[in-house]
Amino acid sequence: MNQRTCLQCGAALQGRSDKKFCDDYCRNIHYHRQTGNGLRQVLNIQKMLRKNRKILEECLRLSEAGKLISKASLEDRGYRFKYHTHTELLREKTPTYCCFDMGYRSVGTKIEIVRVRLPE
Ligand SMILES: [Zn+2]
Repeated sequence: MNQRTCLQCGAALQGRSDKKFCDDYCRNIHYHRQTGNGLRQVLNIQKMLRKNRKILEECLRLSEAGKLISKASLEDRGYRFKYHTHTELLREKTPTYCCFDMGYRSVGTKIEIVRVRLPE
């Protein structure tokens, strides 16, 4: 028979077979830590979104107005296409993927960077 152990401290458990922790103290620490990890992930994603926004802003500043650039030139700067805050359908049918007030939309194989007006 397997000896069950506390998920938090690893101590041997006695009593009910559905018991996961030796006491409330261990249970509380365990769930507190899990919440802590979740928060760290949220903060990491926020960091990536802010970085994405900064990259879009830089590329827009460096390129001529309305000029298309390659996706690779964003990736080279560390842009993560996986992360965006929302999508907007502007006058075109293709969605603009936004990181806060900056966004891009695909035009053929290239992309156009646009500044997006956020709701007040
Ligand atoms: Zn324990």
